[in-house]
Amino acid sequence: MSLLIDNIGELVTNVADSGEGGPLGILRGAALVVEEGRVAWIGPARPAPAADRRIDADGAAVLPGFVDSHAHLVFAGDRAGEFVARMAGARYTGGGIRTTVAATRAADDATLRATVARLRAEALRQGTTTIEIKSGYGLSVADEARSLRIAAEFTTETTFLGAHVVPPEYAERPDDYVGLVCGPMLRAALPYARWIDVFCERGAFDADHTRAVLTAGQAAGLGVRVHANQLGPGPGVRLGVELGAASVDHCTHLDDRDVEALAASDTVATLLPGAEFSTRSPYPDARRLLDAGVTVALATDCNPGSSYTSSMPFCIALAVRELGMTPAEAVWAATAGGARALRRDDLGVLRPGVPADLSILAAPSYVHLAYRPGVPLISQVLHNGVPQCRP
Ligand SMILES: [Zn+2]
Repeated sequence: MSLLIDNIGELVTNVADSGEGGPLGILRGAALVVEEGRVAWIGPARPAPAADRRIDADGAAVLPGFVDSHAHLVFAGDRAGEFVARMAGARYTGGGIRTTVAATRAADDATLRATVARLRAEALRQGTTTIEIKSGYGLSVADEARSLRIAAEFTTETTFLGAHVVPPEYAERPDDYVGLVCGPMLRAALPYARWIDVFCERGAFDADHTRAVLTAGQAAGLGVRVHANQLGPGPGVRLGVELGAASVDHCTHLDDRDVEALAASDTVATLLPGAEFSTRSPYPDARRLLDAGVTVALATDCNPGSSYTSSMPFCIALAVRELGMTPAEAVWAATAGGARALRRDDLGVLRPGVPADLSILAAPSYVHLAYRPGVPLISQVLHNGVPQCRP
């Protein structure tokens, strides 16, 4: 079965210089053919090849599916009370993670799986066709392994985050916990994980612990990503760059050396403005990073404590309003940028041969994702060529 989408007013391909708009590679009056789940053809709407089925985009914009490269979906419970307290003036410290750890450990597999399925479906409806999913609320050998086993049912982009916080039973012996993460926990996680990650932050893991965990993961064949410089300045960004991390995530508190190190590397800076929104914290400065030549991605950080949103359009709107990005930069960062952060060259782009992951907007341009914040503009999503929303 082939599928033709024609009458596309504005097609964002992210194939640089293939059309207008620089990196966005915009084609106007375009059509796209899907065969066997992949993009088979892209070109002008008149004349377009024949196909078994047709979707008339009616002049709307079409863009690659969002690639959300940072999400924590395997958890139980919520922390609405903590959010209310923060909005009344309490400060975010990351300590609430332990609340979710207790709830997650107490939950059965079916409960955790149902939460991941619900959030995955929620993200898909909002145009996210690829989502990275981390463990990190189990923090025991068995609970981290089952978190990743469940995550792997929903995505190939799974990340072992045993080093999220030190669990209460190891509070007096953090070195022992790091030894557990680097040894038995890593071995149990390996069959289900593609990446390893550490929350490198005051109150979580310092530079020595972060290096130990990331190099152990690397030696076992996992790719490296790091939570770095979210709550304050720290060593995480430069350590990530040194270890060849695909991405360093948050990047809210950077000094000039951090920015220089990122600019001279192929490590992506992934910005998570949902976290600053939800913790009422200062936003990262995307403009500074982009002007220095750093590759920037946007992701949701979807988690029950510090950023309980699965909406990439919301993050795009925040990035444009609060991080100093143009709409074009934000849309690129949420699609091709996310793909770079996962070292995937077949995602976040529309060209023959890649998976047919795309969104049709209820709008004439990608610009509306930031221009009309909070409005459900995703009218249809194709994932591997399969329409996800009822027409
Ligand atoms: Zn995170």
